[in-house]
Amino acid sequence: ELWPCEAGEDCSVKVAVHIRPLVGDEKLQGCKDCVTVVSGKPQVQIGTHSFTFDHVYGSTGSPSSAMFDECIASLVDGLFQGYNATVLAYGQTGSGKTYTMGTGFRDGVQTGIIPQVMNVLFSKIETLKHQTEFQLHVSFIEILKEEVRDLLDPSFLSKPEGANGHAAKVAIPGKPPIQIRESSNGVITLAGSTEISVSTLKQMAACLEQGSLSRATGSTNMNNQSSRSHAIFTITLEQMHLAGSERAKRTGSDGLRFKEGVHINKGLLALGNVISALGDEKKRKEGLHVPYRDSKLTRLLQDSLGGNSRTVMIACISPADINAEETLNTLKYANRAR
Ligand code: ADP
Repeated sequence: ELWPCEAGEDCSVKVAVHIRPLVGDEKLQGCKDCVTVVSGKPQVQIGTHSFTFDHVYGSTGSPSSAMFDECIASLVDGLFQGYNATVLAYGQTGSGKTYTMGTGFRDGVQTGIIPQVMNVLFSKIETLKHQTEFQLHVSFIEILKEEVRDLLDPSFLSKPEGANGHAAKVAIPGKPPIQIRESSNGVITLAGSTEISVSTLKQMAACLEQGSLSRATGSTNMNNQSSRSHAIFTITLEQMHLAGSERAKRTGSDGLRFKEGVHINKGLLALGNVISALGDEKKRKEGLHVPYRDSKLTRLLQDSLGGNSRTVMIACISPADINAEETLNTLKYANRAR
């Protein structure tokens, strides 16, 4: 079964929690594990609070390796049938978002969600290529203080190094800012961001690496402002069925997006409001206004959250008692999304 419920039902958003183990630093400080997973249930307890989600991974829940099979693989399958998909990871700095998504290229080989998605995507394409022609594009942007920055902008790469040894990341004078546009059929596009056409796994992986490094370098320059930014890596798949040359259903292109976010900032607050509005069936029937326009993040995710699409939100948490307050905030936010 592709997805347990039909598109349009409330469960087009699933919420999973990923609990990382205590890391070396926390162990050295003598931190205690303050997060308990109720045996056999997707239920997390912290202090006197208890929350139930669709899935819980890590710590004493299911192993992290089950996450891809249970939450993500069906999204990739759905893409070939015309369903858009979005995977979001959020949580405090150090909670495991980079690890979960697989964008931490400073640590070498990546095994997180995005690299796994790429593998599955290209194996599927390989089995279908005799009957279908595929075109793939990727983009990688970052939203920082409500401004959209292009992480694949080729001009960043050729910039001379700044005084502190990091590539300078200044806006190019005269270059128009990236704008969010909505077409008449509700498809959201970014005008002015780099779209790279890729035909191999290697090329796609190189884009992910390049953008991740560009983001990491930028954050060093900006006093770790990356902890207040959202990055969105988008894969667009166009398929042309060779027999009838019939374009994929809705738009001819379906996207898979990966977002990494932190802290309850403007974008996440707006995202919470959008998801609650969508999930409230009574209000939805009354034609409630869904506040997509409240932030760049929700605007960009508009057609991923409301329409013919599936979303998995992964709340990343640390089990350490010193992080208990932030962890509780993350779980409360995730609970609201559900
Ligand atoms: P964030 O991106 O949220 O700031 P990171 O992904 O960088 O957090 O994780 C912080 C640290 O914890 C890193 O050293 C990372 O390798 C480690 N870590 C995160 N999640 C896991 C996990 N599931 N298993 C083992 N180590 C993890």
